[in-house]
Amino acid sequence: MFALADCNNFFASCERVFRPELNGKPVIVLSNNDGCAVARSNEAKALGIKMGDPLFKIRHIVEKHGVAVFSSNFALYGDMSRRVQEVLRMFAPSVEQYSIDEAFLDLRGMEHCDFDALAKQISRECQRLTAIPVSVGIAPTKTLAKIASKLCKRYPKLRGGCYIHRPQDIEKVLSTFPVADVWGIGRRSQAKLAQMGVETALDYTRLSETTVRKLFALPGYRTWKELRGEACIEFEDMVEPKQSICVSRSFASEIRTLPELTEQVTNFAVSAVDKLRKQGSMALEISVFAMTNRFKENEPQSYAGRCVPFASPTADYRTIVSASVSACAAVFRQGYGYKKAGVVITRLIQESGHTPSLFEDFDGARKEACLSGAIDSINRTFGPGAVLFGIQGDGSVRMARNHQSPHYTTLWSDLPTAKVE
Ligand SMILES: [Mg+2]
Repeated sequence: MFALADCNNFFASCERVFRPELNGKPVIVLSNNDGCAVARSNEAKALGIKMGDPLFKIRHIVEKHGVAVFSSNFALYGDMSRRVQEVLRMFAPSVEQYSIDEAFLDLRGMEHCDFDALAKQISRECQRLTAIPVSVGIAPTKTLAKIASKLCKRYPKLRGGCYIHRPQDIEKVLSTFPVADVWGIGRRSQAKLAQMGVETALDYTRLSETTVRKLFALPGYRTWKELRGEACIEFEDMVEPKQSICVSRSFASEIRTLPELTEQVTNFAVSAVDKLRKQGSMALEISVFAMTNRFKENEPQSYAGRCVPFASPTADYRTIVSASVSACAAVFRQGYGYKKAGVVITRLIQESGHTPSLFEDFDGARKEACLSGAIDSINRTFGPGAVLFGIQGDGSVRMARNHQSPHYTTLWSDLPTAKVE
């Protein structure tokens, strides 16, 4: 058996954890630079706000119904996600984090359990320990577990947990479940299925094996088998380290001077190095890119990038920051308004597998490692940005975040206070 735990309206739910007065009220969270709604509470969905609606288009609904609007606060969401994962790990030895708000649990070997009770218990514990509502579906395959978790959202009576396993129950569920909503059914397949008159997940399972293999290739065939109760999608609880790390942002307004662009780029570089170090990797190359606003057609346009290779693999803040400073200077041109920039660290190797060459400066490398380690531990103890390079300015990224909530769980200065009377 597999379980899928999916946080309900995750970003909106995170915002509510520290603003309980918003429970039962419409809440939306916006994309970067306060563009579009990317998360909605059930109440906001009921007002007709759609996923991806731009803020300016729904402004009238927001004002009329007093919708609480938040800029995205990924420090908060990332930390809440980690807390939910921790609760999930209390229930199963292996947990596969599928996205920021979803995880699979491997329940094979736990067949003695009352899975229906377990699903409800996991949901209850997540709510109790993190205040995030979580829908837990348990089924014989990952694809069916996803469907079971969606049922929890549809039917509040299930109290956050749903276990489906009897063939007749599965058939009944699939007969009302739109095939387009099945995990693994891509856009292109959806069009093909609509033409064939396949509407529900049950219709799909009733196609012949040869048809499915011919028309939908291996992924479609796997989904078909999974819907029929045969588990064939691997459980992946080992996270492979990333092969490249990119940190990029669009700015709230165009940047026109080199010092300002450098400040932003070094901020990206520092956060990329932080990610690099967290996964225990070293890099052989860094590149910096910057681009103008292509929607401002009457302004000069530029998209430029510069790559800097390192003589030996490095995970050192100073080395990578100074490379990004020189790459940024090479990319920048006077007279252009830069709307977006980014840093990409590539050609990664695992630090544990690295053999230094004879010509490396061992003493220098040891000092660098000490300094970078000290930066990590200060920033982990006192919050990101506690120690900065001078060139980073105040360490903030120029994004429009007019509605951002405090970093309740990751910055000491933003810690919520409670009054006890
Ligand atoms: Mg979700």
